[in-house]
Amino acid sequence: MASSHTVLMRLVASAYSIAQKAGTIVRRVIAEGDLGIVQKTCATDLQTKADRLAQMSICSSLARKFPKLTIIGEELVVWVDPLDGTKEYTEGLLDNVTVLIGIAYEGKAIAGVINQPYYNYQAGPDAVLGRTIWGVLGLGAFGFQLKEVPAGKHIITTTRSHNSKLVTDCVTAMNPDDVLRVGGAGNKIIQLIEGKASAYVFASPGCKKWDTCAPEVILHAVGGKLTDIHGNALQYNKEVKHMNSAGVLATLRNYDYYASRVPESVKNALVP
Ligand code: AMP
Ligand code: MG
Ligand code: MG
Repeated sequence: MASSHTVLMRLVASAYSIAQKAGTIVRRVIAEGDLGIVQKTCATDLQTKADRLAQMSICSSLARKFPKLTIIGEELVVWVDPLDGTKEYTEGLLDNVTVLIGIAYEGKAIAGVINQPYYNYQAGPDAVLGRTIWGVLGLGAFGFQLKEVPAGKHIITTTRSHNSKLVTDCVTAMNPDDVLRVGGAGNKIIQLIEGKASAYVFASPGCKKWDTCAPEVILHAVGGKLTDIHGNALQYNKEVKHMNSAGVLATLRNYDYYASRVPESVKNALVP
């Protein structure tokens, strides 16, 4: 029987190529022109043909390569977001979009893959389109160059399409030098590790475990921290509720600065 380490590394290697393939599907649907948009819960909660096709591709590939995954499923859970940043995808903000595959062991996020299908899409015809970032806790994160925001600058990144008074109140309390409003949880974590933003602040429910699992690993693998708005670690066992009801707070450095500035009123409004 293969050891759990062997299974994990095979799973990460497969997730890398599976996420890449999903990325090509995400690009193909745009190229073909019919996005097939349907509303899920409301006008800002959308699903496209790309979400559906990428989901099918990821799940069928995982099932084919790991037919016994359910046997060890008690301990190992894979959280998939076939297309993160769907709202922005439908509006042509293509570099906001990512494919997320996160792997959790006994409830803890331990490995993750982020494919960004439209990375470089504005960099000219010779640029290589798309990239894959991956990481394993204790091993590191790869496929990008770690960069930090200039010391002393507080640049907050938050939602573009799911704003609320609570979200704005919390961002304002951080005393930011700048606020970036972009789509996608994967995209915002990429901003943290590439020195574009110092904190991802989202004081609202709405974000799900499949949005945070892979990004959290990449961030943790390079010394960052992602929690809910109260500072609680997120759990990824299969029974856990999907919604991150108490929001998201994530930073590469200086986590305590941002955590200490979350207003009590915001904390009281967000029950874990
Ligand atoms: P955003 O920062 O708005 O792009 O959100 C990050 C992720 O959380 C995306 O996958 C969104 O679809 C999801 N999300 C956040 N807020 C909501 C909401 N109010 N309703 C549905 N999905 C949400
Ligand atoms: Mg998502
Ligand atoms: Mg999605």
